[in-house]
Amino acid sequence: MTAKAAVQLRDYIRDIPDFPKPGIVFKDISPLLASGEAFASCTSQLAIHMPDDIDAIVGIESRGFLFGAALAQLTGVGFVPIRKPGKLPADTHGIDYELEYGMDRLEIHKDALSQGHKVVIVDDLLATGGTAAATVELVQTLGAEVAACLFVIELEFLKGKNRLQNVPTHSLLKY
Ligand code: AMP
Repeated sequence: MTAKAAVQLRDYIRDIPDFPKPGIVFKDISPLLASGEAFASCTSQLAIHMPDDIDAIVGIESRGFLFGAALAQLTGVGFVPIRKPGKLPADTHGIDYELEYGMDRLEIHKDALSQGHKVVIVDDLLATGGTAAATVELVQTLGAEVAACLFVIELEFLKGKNRLQNVPTHSLLKY
C-alpha cells in the first residue's frame, strides 16, 4: 500500500479576482470545505495551535463559524458566535469598528463569557486585522482573556498582525 500524500491546503484555496469589488482578490475557501479530507486536515492543523485550558472558541460571522465550530467539536470546547448587528437575540455588547471604507459593527451575547475565561478567536482570513482587533476588544470587555487568534489564511502584505500585537496569532497559509 502506498502512503497517502499529505493534504496541501493551499491547493484548496481558489483566487476569485475582482470580488466583491474591482481590485480585490477574494480567497475562496469553498474547495477546501467541499473536500472532507482537506477540511478535516485544516481543522487538525488549527488544533495543533490551540493553547491548553481553553474555555471557549470564539468564531467570527460567518466563515469563522465554519472553522471555529469544527475546531470546537474536535477539541471538545464550547463555541461562542460573534455576529453582525441585530442577529443575536439576548442582551449584547457591541463594538463599532472602521473598515477600509466606512464602519461596521460586531456583537456578542453579554452572558457568553465571564471574567477569567480563556478563549481562542477563529476566523477564515486575516486581512487588515480590523475585524479580529474588534473581536479581541469585545472579548476583553466581558473580562475574558484572548489566549490566541487562529486563521486559516493571512494576507501578510496587509500587516493585520500589527493590530493584534499583544495576542499570539497563527495562520496556516500566508500569502
Ligand atoms: P480584515 O478586518 O480586513 O482583517 O478582514 C477580515 C475579514 O474580511 C474576514 O472575516 C474575511 O473573511 C474577510 N476578507 C477580507 N479580505 C478577504 C479576501 N481577500 N478574501 C476573502 N475574505 C476576505
